[in-house]
Amino acid sequence: MAVPLLDVAAQNLALEAELQDAFTRVLHSGRYILGEEVSSFENESATCCGTVHGIGVSSGTDALLLALMSLGIGPGDEVLCPSFTFFATAGSIARTGATPVFVDSHANTFNLNAEDAHGKVTERTKAVLPVHLFGQAADMTAIGQLAKAHSLHIIEDAAQAQGATWEGIPVGGMGDFGAFSFYPTKNLGALGDAGLLTTSNDTLAERARVLRNHGMQPKYHHAHVGGNFRLDELQAALLRVKQTKLDEWIALRTGNAAQYQSLLAGTPDLILPAAAPGHSWNQFTVRLPNRERRNALAAHLRAAEIGNEIYYPEALHQQPCFAYLPTATCPVAEQLADQVLSLPVFPEMTEDQVAEVTQSVSTFCA
Ligand SMILES: *Cc1c(COP(=O)(O)O)cnc(C)c1O
Repeated sequence: MAVPLLDVAAQNLALEAELQDAFTRVLHSGRYILGEEVSSFENESATCCGTVHGIGVSSGTDALLLALMSLGIGPGDEVLCPSFTFFATAGSIARTGATPVFVDSHANTFNLNAEDAHGKVTERTKAVLPVHLFGQAADMTAIGQLAKAHSLHIIEDAAQAQGATWEGIPVGGMGDFGAFSFYPTKNLGALGDAGLLTTSNDTLAERARVLRNHGMQPKYHHAHVGGNFRLDELQAALLRVKQTKLDEWIALRTGNAAQYQSLLAGTPDLILPAAAPGHSWNQFTVRLPNRERRNALAAHLRAAEIGNEIYYPEALHQQPCFAYLPTATCPVAEQLADQVLSLPVFPEMTEDQVAEVTQSVSTFCA
């Protein structure tokens, strides 16, 4: 039995009639940019995240960039971020002209190590940008203490963690800003690119809204240079349909992860992800002892037509585009890049498919 890494078409086709209705509604409205669908989606999303404001944007990357711009971060500033994450986290920092300062991760949670961050603070450090990687919240208690001790802004990269919580609090509601992505493979996926910024700070929300639309306020008057970071009405309307299913999908992801945890427990040379409460399981990521074994398991699964992916094979502090930065010490990030492999955990997976993946992994490890 072939098992895909995920099946976004199946998820969307199950909602075909509602998605068609949303499309028709927008088509007939004649309003395609920043209308009622966007503002309703913003309000509904803010409610989910427990924030005052939601600001729909064009992608998760643009959400990060807009958050940094709204905080006035730019050349001469340093921003702490994990090295073990998707590129957009650090890429957005670099695009403002600020310097990404790479912080190591905890091997058991894949998330930013606040103690290491502490040692990398300088008088130029303006913000910390933790990532809730694979759907698991970073240690926001430790990160909150770090930020407080050094007067840093916090931007949460919650792109992979829609619906996750830290000690009961939704991600995206604990920093100055939360940045979400609705890339089709995320927990809440659009039918294209889309993103969201969350904040409970009225001043920052206003700044972000203005910068989202070329810094224009009032019409054709520009006090600051912004960009076109707007969310489409169409994507907002489609996301509103899908958002009503998010809790259900996360419960299904959690069920799949729990099944893996019990079926794969005790498998030799296989380290399972920590099953922390509040995890939203965008990925189920296991670890092997080294790169050779990891690559061999990936090949074994591929041969059995079982989807898998290496998120991420290279830590960001080792990327050629960041060679201009001072050398960063992130040994755990390097180790994780050698060890990780993500298995299918998507909501529509059947119990048999989970069993099939488990069987194949167990056979390889035995
Ligand atoms: C997906 C992702 C982003 C970027 O989101 P896009 O919508 O693809 O621009 C940023 N950070 C992380 C950690 C991501 O996984």
